[in-house]
Amino acid sequence: MPEISAKPTGAQPKRSTVMVRGFTRRCPRCGSGKIFQRWTTIIDDCPRCGLHFERESGYWAGALAINFVCVGGLIIATFGVILAFTLPKVNIALTLAIMAPVAVLGPIVWYPFSKTIWMAIDRAYLQRMDQHERPDD
Ligand SMILES: [Zn+2]
Repeated sequence: MPEISAKPTGAQPKRSTVMVRGFTRRCPRCGSGKIFQRWTTIIDDCPRCGLHFERESGYWAGALAINFVCVGGLIIATFGVILAFTLPKVNIALTLAIMAPVAVLGPIVWYPFSKTIWMAIDRAYLQRMDQHERPDD
């Protein structure tokens, strides 16, 4: 008998549904919202469907890349807005006062979202499923 790590779930959800779940910190397979113990601590397995979140060693490198790109984009956008409003006399102290919290808090705030978005991309587009699951079309 093959090892089954999750409860049967029926049909796979649409890609758009999986991505919405990713952007709302939910399990990409069943949509359960109780997958974080604290803001930055994800549990090992989904309490509703049993999906094991960390599929392999190094799995969260994709989440790290998403966090880096999204927060980097936010920092660049913030800097662009500051420049747009202050050129030609850029106030360095004001710029740093705005940019420092964005650069320090951005990765922390975005951390759980980057994990669930990565899991959603992994399931919806890379379609790496467990052996007993069928990918979307
Ligand atoms: Zn689930």
